[in-house]
Amino acid sequence: MKQIKFRDRSPINTAQLKAIRPTRLRRLLETSTTLSSTLDHNQLVDIVVTSANDLTESESASIYLVEQASEKIELTASTATNLSAAERKPSLDNSLFGWILSNKEPLVLQNIQQELLEYSDIDTLDYLNADSLMAVPLLTKDSVIGVLLVKNKLGEGGFTEQDCVLLQMLASHAAAALENVRLFQQTDLIAEFMHEFKTPLMALTTASEILAREDLIPFHQELLMMIQSETARLSRMAQDFLDLSRLESGRLQFDQQPVDLTVVAEDVVKLQMAQADKKDINISIEVLGDVPLVYGDYDRLKQLLLNLTNNAIKYNRQGGIVKIRLLNLGQEVAIKVMDTGPGIAAENLPHLFERFYRVRDDEGFTEGAGLGLPIAKRIVENHGGRIEVTSMLGGGSTFTCYFPPSNKIENTLVPE
Ligand code: ADP
Repeated sequence: MKQIKFRDRSPINTAQLKAIRPTRLRRLLETSTTLSSTLDHNQLVDIVVTSANDLTESESASIYLVEQASEKIELTASTATNLSAAERKPSLDNSLFGWILSNKEPLVLQNIQQELLEYSDIDTLDYLNADSLMAVPLLTKDSVIGVLLVKNKLGEGGFTEQDCVLLQMLASHAAAALENVRLFQQTDLIAEFMHEFKTPLMALTTASEILAREDLIPFHQELLMMIQSETARLSRMAQDFLDLSRLESGRLQFDQQPVDLTVVAEDVVKLQMAQADKKDINISIEVLGDVPLVYGDYDRLKQLLLNLTNNAIKYNRQGGIVKIRLLNLGQEVAIKVMDTGPGIAAENLPHLFERFYRVRDDEGFTEGAGLGLPIAKRIVENHGGRIEVTSMLGGGSTFTCYFPPSNKIENTLVPE
């Protein structure tokens, strides 16, 4: 890529920020909120160009992203239609795009024809079909991933410093959101999930094929029940998958309220009673000492305890026992879920919290997707805690979650 030289521009400073009208900042903030809750690449780039267009009051806005493999830049979205081929895939040699990518700085040209006379070695910008333009780099932590460009300021006066600052702020939020989407897409969570999805789907397909055969009508009731339970399993898996991917991408909002874990445990036991009864399992709560509140999200903590007790019932023997024990450890609050199931072999213990991991079983216990424990781990960690398991083949299992008590958190938040 050949280099050209433009005048240097200074980075954003607080005086420039103060000069921006609050309504414009609010609009930027609204866009940023939308950006951070979108995981769809196409939707994201569309939001970015619409917002760039609107914020800078320009004729059109376009976003160009660098193709990692070819190191070329290409138009990804634009508010303008009918862009020429040259404008869609601009060259990087001697071009404004090349300059922005290598200098990682914004560029404002108020009057393209006049200003370009200063740069004898630059390509003509005729292909951009603009009188004025402003272009900023999309910077992530360690690289520049593209360029956000707006053309032709509407109304009098040309692009201002504030326009440039706003565009840079939008570009930095956009780059972070794009990076997030890329990371999200890179995780093979989707591929793994699709693999898991196929098993119940096959069962459903077979069942419906059999249903269609008139000579097998006596089996209908049985097949319909199977379809119902496999469909329920699929939707549970889909919900778990969604929860885990939201937790992994940090997009799940957690409440910050004082929570009484004893109340959570009581709530969970009520919900699990029917399932426990089916296997004649005794499920109870034991509170040791004065257990302080923890700080966090009631519904998520309930989901955590539901996952653990669900396993404790599922992987238990007929007539077994499940105990939820709450303890005050001084520096920490512990909640234990103990069962009298078959236990887990030592070699499997380190993998239990990996997604889609299931212990090979010969007793026909397994029916989940192996997402319950990874979800549990994320929830505990999001509360500043940790989860541990102890187990012995034939000796049952104990899952313990440790949380900082809410008074400890409050003390660290309030300066002395
Ligand atoms: P699943 O949906 O398969 O239950 P989890 O992530 O909740 O997924 O658990 C992963 C695996 O860990 C299970 O498939 C099971 O083999 C094992 N496991 C979890 N909890 C227990 C338990 N209380 N007793 C024995 N094995 C367990």
